[in-house]
Amino acid sequence: MRSLRDGIGCMCERTVQTMSELKPCPFCGGKARINKNSFYEDKTKGFTDHSYGVECLDCFTQSFQFYKTEEQAVKDWNRRADNDR
Ligand SMILES: [Zn+2]
Repeated sequence: MRSLRDGIGCMCERTVQTMSELKPCPFCGGKARINKNSFYEDKTKGFTDHSYGVECLDCFTQSFQFYKTEEQAVKDWNRRADNDR
C-alpha cells in the first residue's frame, strides 16, 4: 500500500514540475500550455494513445508537431523559445 501511494505522489510531482518548466511563447511572450490529444484504435477499448503539443494562449502559436510524451513537447518548445529569442 505504502509503495503505491509513494508512486502516485511521484507522478503528481513530476507533472507539476514539467508544467512550470514551460517557457513563455517565443513570439509574444504569452502564456503557453500543454495540449493533450487522445486517440483510440478500437472504440471498445477507450483511448489507448495520446500525444502532446504546446500552444500559446495569446497568439495561438502551436508546436510544430505532437509528441509522445509531455516532457518531449516541453523540451522542444523550450528549445524553440531559446533559439527564437
Ligand atoms: Zn504567443
